[in-house]
Amino acid sequence: MIRPTLLDIGSTERFLAGLNDWVAIESPTSESAAVNRMMDKVEAGYAALGARCERVPGRDGRGDHLIVRAPWGEPGQKGILCLAHLDTVHPVGMLARNPIRSAGGRAFGPGINDMKAGGHAVFAAFRALREAGATTALPLTFVYVADEETGSVTARAVIEAEAQKNQYALVLEPGRGNGAVVTSRKGVAMYALTVHGRPAHAGGGHREGRSALRELAHQIIAIEGMTDYGRGVTLNVGRAEGGSAANVVPEYARCTIDLRVPTPEDASEFDARLRALRPVTPEVTLEVAGGLNRAPYRKTDRPDIAALFEHTRALAADLGFALEDLPDGEKSGGSDGQFCVPYCAVLDGLGPYGGGSHTAEEWLDLATIPRRGNLLLHLLQTLA
Ligand SMILES: [Zn+2]
Repeated sequence: MIRPTLLDIGSTERFLAGLNDWVAIESPTSESAAVNRMMDKVEAGYAALGARCERVPGRDGRGDHLIVRAPWGEPGQKGILCLAHLDTVHPVGMLARNPIRSAGGRAFGPGINDMKAGGHAVFAAFRALREAGATTALPLTFVYVADEETGSVTARAVIEAEAQKNQYALVLEPGRGNGAVVTSRKGVAMYALTVHGRPAHAGGGHREGRSALRELAHQIIAIEGMTDYGRGVTLNVGRAEGGSAANVVPEYARCTIDLRVPTPEDASEFDARLRALRPVTPEVTLEVAGGLNRAPYRKTDRPDIAALFEHTRALAADLGFALEDLPDGEKSGGSDGQFCVPYCAVLDGLGPYGGGSHTAEEWLDLATIPRRGNLLLHLLQTLA
């Protein structure tokens, strides 16, 4: 294939002016009207550049999701998906505590790092293509999510549907530490264990009672005992409850289990072990519900992800910087990128970055704007 003329993302000043307009619209996940104002702003920007925009109406108190498509590409052709969220963890009013300003090579504002800068990088890359009259070899789809900070409960199906139509998913979460991208993440599974015992009066009927809480105590020890740091598998019982009154043998008890695993095989194995839990107390029953919420992946198991990273690293080297990755997934939490992993090659943490996410000192390193902006633009131009 003919190597396309690689474009430039444009000046940092222009990028920052546009980004600050986005940061100025406070958009906490829980305020759907505020998130929708944010989506309106972004949609208008794309529409003015000739993109096709689609809104997925919000539900369950969340805002709308926005899907943007470039006006080129063959129907049915698998392309590139860029993923960003426009909700933030900050309540309305945080803008007064962390006002929009730049100083010492940093730009400040709520949500600027996590992750309006990444979302804006997608917009700036698309604008650079349009202003140059350029297209890309693959179709482009951009998804802006409204509820990532509360687990993308309403966005998940939207993300999965778009991931199935694409070959690559580029996730614009901020780069880690000194800009590393994420090529592995642990799987996250959530379970609930419910114990049914037999209630009885704690005085007169104690012998006939079967305590669900006592049984749960046995089970919590067994569950946490499955943790295997050597294999990178952890189980955490984060909440437990049960019983009804001090003088009643508890009929009911329940706990939640958070399971983290490095591989799909580990997920299956520990799923089976949890479902095989048996009561220690006679006549008590256990019920295990739940399963994998975010799939694990590792670059070492996924040649397509390894190849995407190597391609990206070569583009970074051409731009004059060394790109590293976090290959073991050990320190990273969950991400929307994991919803795409079953369907396409995912590269996460591609956005510009700074620090102080989720705090009143959130900031963005201005030097990362041209670096990461151009890296994304060149990825869009060269992936085929
Ligand atoms: Zn984020």
